[in-house]
Amino acid sequence: MKVKFSTILASEDETIVYLPGCPLYCKNCNTPQLVKEGTFEERGVEELFFILRESKTRRIYFKGGEPLMQGNALLELFKLLKREGFFIKIETSGFYGEELRYVTPYVDWVALDVKTSLNVIDFGKAGGLHGDIFLSGLFKSIAFLENFKGVKEVRTTIIKGLNDSEEIIDEISKYVRFCDYYFLQEYNPENNLIPGCEGVSVERMNELGLEACKNVKNVFLRLKNGEELKVEIKRSV
Ligand code: SF4
Repeated sequence: MKVKFSTILASEDETIVYLPGCPLYCKNCNTPQLVKEGTFEERGVEELFFILRESKTRRIYFKGGEPLMQGNALLELFKLLKREGFFIKIETSGFYGEELRYVTPYVDWVALDVKTSLNVIDFGKAGGLHGDIFLSGLFKSIAFLENFKGVKEVRTTIIKGLNDSEEIIDEISKYVRFCDYYFLQEYNPENNLIPGCEGVSVERMNELGLEACKNVKNVFLRLKNGEELKVEIKRSV
């Protein structure tokens, strides 16, 4: 079995493996190079395992694209990595609920994207192709994640006109109130798949974050410069 990948970025803290391929075509996708057809490296599961085993760190983060599009091969890779004591983090759009279920015994941290209100119309707008099928996968992923024993991260990238309202953030954060961290991410217009999306100000993101704080314990803003800011309700004394 082979794994297709685009890049392996190694640092002292974490090794990131970028996996290409995604059945969706989201408005706010900022990894078009992984979503569009392209030429990528391909290695057998064991071969890739031997490469990753040489990492300076024991933490490996699998990013996409949609990593779980290669769910079967990842399952084999994760088993090998886990046996060597690696900490495994994976991000996913939630499209592949079943695959998420079978890889998670070997995963320590799941970062799930929830793009907007969980209804077919809004998800159709956010998720490009297959919005309705996307939603059924996402419901499975959310239901499954609720009982996941590792770290549960959920994130929403805030896009003007798509999800920048208190009602939508309230709805999403109620669905994922079990998560350990909820990140509202700043939209980065550079390098996006479909031009024309717009983000909102950091002040507005903070207002939306305060709404999420009503349902989720740890809410953060993740800015496009990489900074992460905790959102906190100021209580009067
Ligand atoms: S943002 Fe959408 S299109 Fe881009 S990788 Fe994620 S799920 Fe796929």
